[in-house]
Amino acid sequence: MKIGIVGLQGAVSEHLEATERAMQKLGIKGEAVWVGRPVQLEGVDGIIIPGGESTTIGKLMRTTGLFEQVKQLATGGKPILGTCAGLIVLAKRGDEQVMRTRQPLLGLMDISVIRNAFGRQRESFEVNLEIPALGEEPFSAVFIRAPAVEEVWGDAKTLAEFQGKIVAVQQGSLLAVAFHPELTPDTRLHEYFLRMCQR
Ligand code: GLN
Repeated sequence: MKIGIVGLQGAVSEHLEATERAMQKLGIKGEAVWVGRPVQLEGVDGIIIPGGESTTIGKLMRTTGLFEQVKQLATGGKPILGTCAGLIVLAKRGDEQVMRTRQPLLGLMDISVIRNAFGRQRESFEVNLEIPALGEEPFSAVFIRAPAVEEVWGDAKTLAEFQGKIVAVQQGSLLAVAFHPELTPDTRLHEYFLRMCQR
């Protein structure tokens, strides 16, 4: 199995490591690769768009040609995981901050997002989050200037909420979380995504 991590800006190496740890746990032979150009997406079974700065990631995806390529692959059913800024990039609709900066959105998921949804005083925090899809044990979720999903519609399904805000969503082969699963030792979210990539 080959998983491509969009490596233009943000938490890239952490995702490479977490993905490879999850592969080992599941006994999957494979590798996670750093992707900076469309040609590097050849033969991937899944793609991860990491956290970072969504305006920058979106713009760099445009200039490198990754934007169109990822969109095309996702439309064809290729599984995509977006974390934090990656969640924003996957969304169909954004708040006024997104509109103002005119940041490029892939528009793949039936979700609307609010950037920096958890306010200044709570810029970064870690919580035990109930994510039933990952099992009974709560998931230790790191939020860093995190977005939230304001609304889901169509085929998008809420997987987790925190303080009444939606923070994890799945829509078929697309998975988006507002937190950083690559920053904690728990690999269950990456394992969940890899199983989506095996189908
Ligand atoms: N606040 C960032 C944004 O809006 C996301 C933060 C993150 O990815 N940790 O792009």
